[in-house]
Amino acid sequence: MSGIVDLRSDTVTRPTAGMRAAMAAAPLGDDVFGDDPSVNALQAAVVERLGFEAALFLPSGTQSNLVALMSHCGRGDEYIVGQQQHCYRWEAGGAAVLGSIQPQPLTQQADGSLLLADIKAAIKPDDPHFARSRLLCLENTIGGQVLDPAYVRAAQALARRHGLSLHLDGARLFNAAAAAPGEVLANARAICAGFDSVSVCFSKGLGAPVGSVLCGSRDFIDRARRWRKMCGGAMRQAGLLAAAAHYALDHHLERLRTDHALAQRLAAGLQGIAGVQVQAPHTNIVFADVAPERSAGLIPFLKERGVLATGLYRLRFVTHLDVDEVGVDRAIAAVRAYFSEA
Ligand SMILES: *Cc1c(COP(=O)(O)O)cnc(C)c1O
Repeated sequence: MSGIVDLRSDTVTRPTAGMRAAMAAAPLGDDVFGDDPSVNALQAAVVERLGFEAALFLPSGTQSNLVALMSHCGRGDEYIVGQQQHCYRWEAGGAAVLGSIQPQPLTQQADGSLLLADIKAAIKPDDPHFARSRLLCLENTIGGQVLDPAYVRAAQALARRHGLSLHLDGARLFNAAAAAPGEVLANARAICAGFDSVSVCFSKGLGAPVGSVLCGSRDFIDRARRWRKMCGGAMRQAGLLAAAAHYALDHHLERLRTDHALAQRLAAGLQGIAGVQVQAPHTNIVFADVAPERSAGLIPFLKERGVLATGLYRLRFVTHLDVDEVGVDRAIAAVRAYFSEA
């Protein structure tokens, strides 16, 4: 490990030696012609392992969600989503700006869910006054929390009763899958069940440098390919990047449990430091609330000691494959040192 432990996000990982070797060896072609064997192999692997008809490789999770929304909804349609969800809050309003799709944001509950009563109340009748309610979007994990499977099934059933389609923003799908006992891939497949489309990021905990995969029916992915082209996401010898994602799919799923164990270690170490209130992590993200009067100097203090984190009153630490126990212990020691200073 270098002299710095970077806990700002799981997006900061650098490709491993094995991943770089896979990238260097990847057969390439022009993916806009459908000719890149490495992109095709990744898409086929995701289709087979997650249980969908078709899949599409995209440059980012943001574009994958946008293209998914545009493939589900047309101009004047509406998607129901939580206030804290990435595809509403953190994607610059793309669905509205570029898709002419109206968001219907609902209050996110503390556990990441939406109240079924809120969803039901937000579904609009077929009436020319209203946008057409078309889609329900969920996110799993959300803020590092795993959605309760019983809630997901109930929300899916409610959406189906009202003729809505279902999209899952599974940027951290495999973290949700690794949080339960059993094989990560089998868990991931179960989490995807009942959704029409799922978007998965490979550039987070999985450790690839770039890329997301969107899954759905063949028709849906055909529409998505056209929107991807329009959004500028159709890449040429993209197999170089797809090979990294494919390597992660083959080698980095089970190791997510190491990240989760490191998050537990970090939370346990921060617990009991006066002035810090730690939330028990479900996966690889640790949130810690800091007394407001002590918050301002903390991030720079940690940085001076080689520990990078984000947040102000609520600190966020994210573990990933470039973090180890030594780094976690250094982060704990630095936070303790800060709060033991008068
Ligand atoms: C990171 C993230 C995205 C977007 O991914 P980018 O590749 O950064 O555009 C979408 N949804 C969720 C839940 C995310 O965490």
